[in-house]
Parts: sequence; structure tokens; C-alpha cells
Amino acid sequence: MRIATLLARAGCGTDAKTGAISTPIYQSATFCHPGLGESTGFDYARTGNPTRAVLEKTLAELDGGARASAFSSGMAAIDAVFRLIPDGGRNRVVLTEDPYGGTVRLMDRFGCRAGLVPVYADTSDSGAVERELERGGVALVMVEIPSNPLLRVADIARLAEAARAAGALLAVDNTFLTPWLFRPFEHGADLVLYSVTKYLAGHNDVLAGAVVSRTREMGDRVAYVQNAAGAVPGPMDCWLTLRGVKTLGIRMDRQQANALRVAEFLSRHRRVTRTRYPGLPGDPGYERLRRQASGSGAIVSFEVERSEMVPDILANVRAFAFAESLGGVESLITYPLVQTHADLAPELRERLGLNDRLLRLSIGIEDAEDLVEDLDRTLRMAM
Ligand SMILES: *Cc1c(COP(=O)(O)O)cnc(C)c1O
Repeated sequence: MRIATLLARAGCGTDAKTGAISTPIYQSATFCHPGLGESTGFDYARTGNPTRAVLEKTLAELDGGARASAFSSGMAAIDAVFRLIPDGGRNRVVLTEDPYGGTVRLMDRFGCRAGLVPVYADTSDSGAVERELERGGVALVMVEIPSNPLLRVADIARLAEAARAAGALLAVDNTFLTPWLFRPFEHGADLVLYSVTKYLAGHNDVLAGAVVSRTREMGDRVAYVQNAAGAVPGPMDCWLTLRGVKTLGIRMDRQQANALRVAEFLSRHRRVTRTRYPGLPGDPGYERLRRQASGSGAIVSFEVERSEMVPDILANVRAFAFAESLGGVESLITYPLVQTHADLAPELRERLGLNDRLLRLSIGIEDAEDLVEDLDRTLRMAM
């Protein structure tokens, strides 16, 4: 079945006993055994819960992976991927140099303590990643596509080839595009990870994450970490995610149509000095993203003329909420320097252009004209 059908049918009719069309919320921490040495397939809910199992099966199918494991947050999912790296062997991890701020914090504070050595590289420059792989000792390459908040686009097939040749794993954080727009396994990735909190759940009411594995063997290793460390989502959150995922395709289509309208508007505004959106022809990532993905997502970053405008804009928007996060049906505006990327080294922020004039928008499903009018009004009135 095609992806739109898989989405609509997510969790449909999984309860043979009653025929319930919606997967029941199995709010149960443990499961009775029919007899000694027998199991219904569920024993204790950290290891597996029926509602979570339906979500995990759905997520594996959407990406065409062998197995998915759901986590209590995107960070727990990323943590699980780091924990796949065995002790005592290769220990270098190549990461996108402008990644999600939480990934830097996790790696620098805890990954390093566990003996991992982070190497931050411009993953939109395949040659830069290949040079790091040639230096040896790389266990894992972890790439965000597009990167955040600068929206640079990596060539996943080329990175997958280089990683495989060097004996390293390639993990793609596909939070921004989702399987609706991009399917990393088709380009050679080994692992796909998500902050499910964002587009997959889609309504800013759930915190969850997921790791999808290309092979069963890798999927079993992730599930082992999931059970051992125990960062699992509860049945209610799994159910909300299943409910949310059904409309992923129509939400994404609307959100990216709105994002293109907003990006075009901002790129012409006299108080905006730079607009970044890989769906805009002329954006550095435009051609490369089109070759790999069926869309550009709905995150738009832009720089205003002067940093003094930022507090005014944040205080006066009405169609946008001033909040961190992204991917929900309601539009949000974020100030990356302070809210999401405070953990990045100042020299790196400087070099990347992650400055005090940069704002990031997560575009929702509203009427695009309301979003444009709101931005126009606040940009004009800002000091
Ligand atoms: C939000 C986000 C994360 C972290 O996920 P949480 O669900 O907040 O723990 C990781 N990667 C990306 C790209 C994100 O946007």
C-alpha cells in the first residue's frame, strides 16, 4: 500500500476481539501469563505494550524499515543510537555542525563521558564528511536534513556510500521532513530517527521519539537498549501519536504550501535581509533537496535588519505563538540564539550565521494570508 493509505489506516482494526476501529489504549503495566513458560506476547510494559507495538509497527512501515522502537522523547531516541556504539572500538561520531541544540548537549555532556568523540562537520559538504571518515575511527555519522535552523541540505546517498565504505553507520534525523517527504532508507541510511513530538504526532500535545532500523538485527539491538534503559512512551502518548499520524500527509502538504507562501513574502520584505527555505528556488539547498525528497518541509528561517527588532516582533505576533518546538498545526516563532541553540560554541554560531537577528518559523495549517499579514504588520511596527 502507498504511504497515504498506510497513514489513514494507522492502527485500524488491530483489536480482533472487538473489532474496534481505533487501537485501544492498553493502560496496563503488566500482562498475565496463561501458564508457566507461556506468554501472550506481552509481559511487562517497558519491554512491550500493545498500543506501543501498533505505533512501532506503523512507524517501521512508513519508512520501509525492518523494526521501529518508540521512545519517550526524541532525545531518548538519539541517546539510544549513541548507546549502540560498542565500548572499546571506534569512538568518533560525525555530527551535523548546526544540529538540534539538544543533540550537542547530549553528546558533549554525556556522550563524551562515555568515551565518544564528537566531530562537528558541515554535512552539506560531502567532501568534509569523507575527509573525517578517511581519518578513521568513525563509528557513526548522524545527519539532520535539512539542518536546523540554517536549513542546509546534505546529500544522503553520497554520505551513505562513504559511511558504508568506511565501515561506519549512517543515522538520519528525519524529524523535519518525515517519511511523507523523505525516506532515508531508499538512499542507503542504516537508521532513521525522529522527534515524534514534531510532525509525526503533529499537535504539540505529545513528547515522543523513535528509531527505525533498516535491518532486523539492528532493530533488535535498538529494542534491547529501549528495554534496558527504559525511556518508553506511555500508552496514551502512543495512542495520541497514532491519531496524529493519520493526517500527516494532509498536514504536511498544507504546512509546506503555507511555508512557501511565507518564505516568498519574507524574501521580498524590505526589513528582512535574508530568508532561508530550501523550497525557494535560489536557496543553496533547493536543487539537492529536490533530487532526494518530494518536498521541502515547513521550517523557514529569516534575518531581520536589526537585532533590536526581535523583541518587538516576538511580543506582537498574533497568528504565531512565541514558543520553541516545531511541526504542530499551529505556527510558532522561535529565537534560536536564545531558545534552541544556546549550547552551540560562540565561534561556530558566528561562522554559521546563527546570529542575534535570526528568527525561525514553524509554519502551521492556518490561512497563509493571516500569517503573511501578521508578519508584515509586526515587521513594519518593530523599532
Ligand atoms: C526536537 C528535536 C529533537 C529532540 O526531540 P524531543 O522530542 O524534543 O526530545 C531532535 N532532533 C530534532 C531535529 C528536533 O527538532
